[in-house]
Amino acid sequence: MYRNLLNESSLYPILRKLDEELAAETKKLGCPCGGQLDRANYPRKPRGAAPEVERDPAYRQRLSFCCAEEGCRRRRTPASVLFLGRKVYLGAVVVVVSVLRQGPSPARLARLKKLVGVSARTVRRWHKWWLESFVESDFWKAARGRLRAPLEERELPRSLLEAFEANSALLQLVYLLRFVSPLTIPSPTTGLGF
Ligand SMILES: [Zn+2]
Repeated sequence: MYRNLLNESSLYPILRKLDEELAAETKKLGCPCGGQLDRANYPRKPRGAAPEVERDPAYRQRLSFCCAEEGCRRRRTPASVLFLGRKVYLGAVVVVVSVLRQGPSPARLARLKKLVGVSARTVRRWHKWWLESFVESDFWKAARGRLRAPLEERELPRSLLEAFEANSALLQLVYLLRFVSPLTIPSPTTGLGF
């Protein structure tokens, strides 16, 4: 049921639109110094999605701002549902690949490598990230209470995906990415190592 999610052509435009909305909220707030925010996006090479998504300039940047005020120039980077970490893989890929490794009949690593080009080492690192860094994060400790029922942390991220009621797996994925997006706001303590 989750296997074909990354090939759904409607997924990436939805995520991109949400990123634009998150960026618009950040821009409206402006800089704490009172200055306006200018676009100053970070380049990205999104991996793991369909080739047309990887090539599309719209998905090759992480939206970000810089204060226009001379002498301030402070960075403001909004939350993102497209990019979970600082590196190359799209957040959707990190979630779906991790989920496919779980459950009663986990996808074999060789198959995942064929599907999205992700190495066994990377998959293991993501798994460890969910079970350790994510579970220990201040974000999760504060946010888990907002879920309707406690979930099995050892089954993350699949248990979190299943916690969102929606009529499609695609929407569940979008809700999950929106839910965890505060983690993507860069901070010295976030340290998303992928
Ligand atoms: Zn400023």
